[in-house]
Amino acid sequence: MTHPDDLASSRTDEAVLKLVRAAGDSSRAELAAATGIAQSTINQAVSRLLGRGLLRQITTSPKGAGSGSGRPATRLALARSSGVTAAIDFGHNHVRVAVADARDGFSAERELLIDVDLRGTEAMETAAALLRELLDEAGKEMPPALVVGIPGPVDSRTGLVRSPTILSSWIGMAPAATLGELLGTSIRIENDAFLGAYGELRHGVGRWAGTFLYVKVSNGVGASLVIDGKPFRGVSGLSGEIGHIALPNRTEVCRCGNRGCLEAVVSVGAVTAQIALTRQDPSIDPFTETRPGSPSYRVFEESGRILGRVLAACCDLLNPNAVVLGGELGANSPAFVEGVRASIERHAQPAVAGALRVLAAETGGRAEIVGAMALAEVTA
Ligand SMILES: [Zn+2]
Repeated sequence: MTHPDDLASSRTDEAVLKLVRAAGDSSRAELAAATGIAQSTINQAVSRLLGRGLLRQITTSPKGAGSGSGRPATRLALARSSGVTAAIDFGHNHVRVAVADARDGFSAERELLIDVDLRGTEAMETAAALLRELLDEAGKEMPPALVVGIPGPVDSRTGLVRSPTILSSWIGMAPAATLGELLGTSIRIENDAFLGAYGELRHGVGRWAGTFLYVKVSNGVGASLVIDGKPFRGVSGLSGEIGHIALPNRTEVCRCGNRGCLEAVVSVGAVTAQIALTRQDPSIDPFTETRPGSPSYRVFEESGRILGRVLAACCDLLNPNAVVLGGELGANSPAFVEGVRASIERHAQPAVAGALRVLAAETGGRAEIVGAMALAEVTA
């Protein structure tokens, strides 16, 4: 199996699959010629794809006299069952499922709002039912493996949820086993911010930024780091848990039991509560407000400034090309992005701030499910 963190390999695998899909069965030499990739690299990709069951070998008879050595030629075709990929993304307040079929270009997503934190078992049952429904309606089979994102710390060595407080009802659960049983397939559990960063790496800022910090800002705050094109997990997958950094002089109670945590102050819930106090015209969507003087713009911008102060310290430590903001707040609110940008510029070392861009995720609020699907493609 390709290690999914090995981006160069997964890009070659993708290029090979794309070509076989478009051109029909092909020889290894034809694949090398058409992609311009070295024959040895193509051969390695083909071996991986055969190993993962995404390609199959077909043997064609030599086409009569004069067609060469007379040995049967080995060509490569898509495996009959290789096309379907699926993923599940749990937020604190939603579950989203996605299905795609590389053979016919089908793709669909579905979302439901549910309290994921407090109702873990029900959230998993809901997600399983939603995914089955989507597959049934599309006439697609359950793929052999799924990628599932959850909004809490996941131990990358065990796949277990590692915090007793952040996803309280999930503690003691083995979501991979539970979902695997419900859906009859193998499950890979990942942290949601890790998947968001992976989505941006493969389909967003990763096209130009090698080292970046992805920050999901929604009903919680989580981050994930990409260094030189490779996701960084820390020793056990818990890197990037910045949501519970304590802010000075803040007393808001956090879901983790402490006070003044970053995500207790900067979240969709917090800005929504503040905007309700401004008595803004209900016909205006505060998330997309772009007039700098308006009450909702100021609420979002101030929220971004508070996050930016914490991120400025992270940037001084990491010196990234970009800070990429995802989640409902980060991906949708220009005022929030502007607040983060201004605050990093104000508080980070000038040379560090000058070397980076602060922007909303190119994959928008969907970075997590985009990343989960991209990872599903390369997960055998
Ligand atoms: Zn906390």
